[in-house]
Amino acid sequence: MLRLSTELEKNIKADGENAYPNECCGVLIGEVDNAGVKTAMSTLTIDNAKEDSEQYHRFLITPEDMMEAEQSARSMKLDVIGFYHSHPDHPSAPSGYDKDHALPFYSYVIVSVDKGKAQILTSWELTDDRSDFKQENINSGGGTH
Ligand SMILES: [Zn+2]
Repeated sequence: MLRLSTELEKNIKADGENAYPNECCGVLIGEVDNAGVKTAMSTLTIDNAKEDSEQYHRFLITPEDMMEAEQSARSMKLDVIGFYHSHPDHPSAPSGYDKDHALPFYSYVIVSVDKGKAQILTSWELTDDRSDFKQENINSGGGTH
C-alpha cells in the first residue's frame, strides 16, 4: 500500500497538466514501514530526459537525476520509494515500456491527463517474479495507521 496525501496527489496532477501533451515524471520520497507500507512525504519533479519527439508517450530519468533525488531524500533522512509519470490522453495503466523499465520494490504512480486535465491516479508495483504489474492501493491518509 502507498500512503499519498491529497496534497502530494495534487502536486503530481499539476505536474501532469503542466507537462501536457508530454509526459511528466518525478520521484516519490518517503519511508517504508516493516509491513511494507510506503508513505510518501514529498514529491520531486524531474525533467523528462527523453528526446522531445518521444515525450508524449515515454519518460526517462537519467542516472544523474536519480542520484540527485537519492541525495535529497537522504538529506531528509528518507528514501526514494517510487516514481510517478503521466499518461497524456491515455488510461492510467502501465504500458509494456513501463513494465520493462520498472524495478522491484518501488511504487509506480501513473496519472492520466485527458486534454490537459489530470484525471485518474493509480499506483503499481511489480509482482515478486517481475513478470507483471499489480495495482497498489493508495491511501490518501488522514494520519491514522
Ligand atoms: Zn507510462
